[in-house]
Amino acid sequence: MTFAEVPSQAAVKQLLRQSVQRQHVAHAQLFRGSEGGAALALALAYAQYLNCEERTAEDSCGHCPACTKTAKLAHPDLNFIVPVTTTKTVTKDAVSSKFMAEWRAFVLDNPYQGLNDWMQHIGAENKQGSISKDEAVQILKLVSLKAFEARFKIVVVWLPELMHPAAANAVLKLLEEPPPATIFLLVSHAPEQLLPTIISRVQPVVVRPFSENDLTDYLHAHYQVPEAKARQVAQLAEGSLGAALASRDTNADHDYFEFFRDWMRLCFNYGSKAGDILKKSEDFQKLGRENQKELLAYALGVVRKVLLFGIDPKFVPHLAAGEQQFVSGFAKFVTPRNADLLTKELTDAHYHIERNANPRMVFVDSSLRLGSFLKS
Ligand SMILES: [Zn+2]
Repeated sequence: MTFAEVPSQAAVKQLLRQSVQRQHVAHAQLFRGSEGGAALALALAYAQYLNCEERTAEDSCGHCPACTKTAKLAHPDLNFIVPVTTTKTVTKDAVSSKFMAEWRAFVLDNPYQGLNDWMQHIGAENKQGSISKDEAVQILKLVSLKAFEARFKIVVVWLPELMHPAAANAVLKLLEEPPPATIFLLVSHAPEQLLPTIISRVQPVVVRPFSENDLTDYLHAHYQVPEAKARQVAQLAEGSLGAALASRDTNADHDYFEFFRDWMRLCFNYGSKAGDILKKSEDFQKLGRENQKELLAYALGVVRKVLLFGIDPKFVPHLAAGEQQFVSGFAKFVTPRNADLLTKELTDAHYHIERNANPRMVFVDSSLRLGSFLKS
């Protein structure tokens, strides 16, 4: 993976490149960022940059033997320690090395996925993955060997917060007495759960969540998702590219913006539009529960935007073409006075749908209340 393949993140990429150019590569670094963010992708791009034989000031070359192997996650000096558990195929002594084929496929498919996705990928959904104490032995064995062909031996530890204390101690020992030419890249979603002794020995690399705009541009450019739709997906994903990629297919047929806009118009006129609200509740029913929840989550995001827009349009710089007109019109009716009520109503509706309430009843009930709040 090259830096260019990771969307946005310009500042942190620059820091990483400079560390190599100035030969200030810390032997242990902690990429910390939320699930669905760029932490793992950046660690991989950095690993490739470190061992590239023809790197430029900007990026790894992408075609030298080291890059080719690293890009396929098949470089003999690129090692992974990841949380695993017993599965149908690995019935005992679960350690990372037994899952490397699965791990490669998982990461190459999408490096922005989280622990649940990984557990599902190895057929261990509902199980707790961990970096076990057996892994401690593997880690020590791994680093006792010299780099085979590259300048650096690289050990990526994905989710070190899931290390068994024995594994954590093995890693700690290596951080205290670093083996030569070995670089540890820890990639964590919950760094606060790491031992303070580990934290104190790693150089932090802070990876910010993607912005709504980053996600919109990425979906639009790489997956040809139309801009308005990409923005809806991005808003729902809350900074997680993993979530955005996962949901771009599942709700491809639904335009939440249109649905929400039409719904709010009906709510506002619910006195004269009761029949239309009943009709709309059938459309809502047809969405199915997962999409109903997504629609409501999307609606919450729009209400927040509308409120911000009403305070100052500058707070909401990026709106799809059709949304702009609606948001500015709707902002007259969403004020600090009723925003809490609207938010609570949509949150409650989401809760009831989650609890398997009848979607049509929830929808009709909510419509009446939303209508009265909008007029208050
Ligand atoms: Zn290269």
